[in-house]
Amino acid sequence: MTTTAKEFQNHIGGKWQSAQSGKTFPNHNPATGEIIGHFPLSGKVEADAAVAAARSTFEKWRLVPAPYYMGGEGRRLFGYTVPVELPNKSGIAMRDPIGVVACITPWNFPVAIPTWKMFPALVAGNTVVIKPASDAPLSALRLVEILYEAGLPDGVVNIVFGPGGTVGDALLHHPDVAVVSFTGSTESGRHVAIEAAKSLKRVSLEMGGKNAVIVLDDADLDLAIEGILWSAYGTTGQRCTACSRVIVHSAVRKQLIEKLVPRIEQLRLGNGLDETVDVGPVINASQLEKIHSYTGIGKVEGATLVTGGSIAREGELARGHFYHPTLFTDVRPDMRLAQEEIFGPTLSVIEVASFEEAIAVNNDSKFGLSSAIYSQDINRLQRAMRDITTGILYINSGTTGAEIQFPFGGNRGTGNGHREAGIAGIDVFNEWKVVYNDYSGKLQKAQIDQTEL
Ligand code: NAP
Repeated sequence: MTTTAKEFQNHIGGKWQSAQSGKTFPNHNPATGEIIGHFPLSGKVEADAAVAAARSTFEKWRLVPAPYYMGGEGRRLFGYTVPVELPNKSGIAMRDPIGVVACITPWNFPVAIPTWKMFPALVAGNTVVIKPASDAPLSALRLVEILYEAGLPDGVVNIVFGPGGTVGDALLHHPDVAVVSFTGSTESGRHVAIEAAKSLKRVSLEMGGKNAVIVLDDADLDLAIEGILWSAYGTTGQRCTACSRVIVHSAVRKQLIEKLVPRIEQLRLGNGLDETVDVGPVINASQLEKIHSYTGIGKVEGATLVTGGSIAREGELARGHFYHPTLFTDVRPDMRLAQEEIFGPTLSVIEVASFEEAIAVNNDSKFGLSSAIYSQDINRLQRAMRDITTGILYINSGTTGAEIQFPFGGNRGTGNGHREAGIAGIDVFNEWKVVYNDYSGKLQKAQIDQTEL
């Protein structure tokens, strides 16, 4: 295995620098096991230095008009004016930046998620420290490089590599970090919320999912199968919005499974850089073991393993972390298989007898990110729009495919009420300030004085 891979550095206050300890950690390609690069094994010292750089730059950065640096939302940081109760007085609500934002990001979507966090934070006038996931540090780094190549002033965006338990925790506890924007597992998110609450930081959490595709008795089954395959096995099930449950009406269950299974068995496993590959590797050895453990759990719980269910070791696949696309049927809604996030290419089929039961099973989850429903019945689709309790609902397409102009996020164990993307994605990074301007030249008492005609 090669050890000559490039060594990368943190970016703090406009300077590329190694960890003070001089130590690094390797990042591996999960398809081949090769080392992609070595990254600084940072700790509290580097996290503190990054916050200090972001803090000192904040006073200048917050005064830079957003459209200088940004198109799009930078021009749409709308406030509003509202009529006030008294004459010769006006009121406006305007947005203020908050300060230093810590962005803690997961390994999946290593470009998109830092982008979704960083740009709204910057446009809103804040400075940023990014702590990328240790399993996928390189993409976030490239994003930072591009920003500086484009002329971003030093210190506005800082990046610190290192373990969540040290660098992440140092950011959570730093008094100069005003906002924490976290994406990752529900377990880590809970820790982030508890620790950040101790210093009353604002926290935005985007966490796990257990997303379902509902297939009703009048669904276009061929269309549903395309959506299921892409949502469940595309990106190897490693999306927060990936489909891991199919809730199917008993009238079409047999037909759906008969069509679905051969399509799953045709999926080609391999290196994701090969365009003919359908299903890539999973991120690391421990995640591979976790996925495989759910196959054991499903069997013990009494679900039927129809296809897959094993680690792929054929030929070149043995070099990486690959799992055969897996399908379980006869899954009950209360099984762990149907309730816990697996984050891999494992799909469970749950049979229901009615539309109402399908909605109830869909909503009966500690997560609440994304749902999909296949039907031709406009009335039932309208009811689904009303009754489904996830943050995202797709009608006649799979559970993935969110677009940046809309609020993104979920309910219950998936989120804590904030959203990313669109104009809603900026809200978490601003404080509202209301300015009352009394130009009457006398004391006017709101809620007490009456306007005389
Ligand atoms: P993770 O293990 O929770 O890690 C996420 C980030 O938190 C990483 O940067 C990690 O650092 C850091 N971290 C870990 N422990 C920490 C601590 N004690 N204090 C501060 N930071 C800490 O999640 P993951 O495995 O990278 O990502 C997969 C998860 O993300 C899945 O659950 C998926 O559903 C979820 N996700 C959700 C969304 C959404 O928008 N809802 C989108 C994508 C992914 P290290 O890497 O150094 O451990």
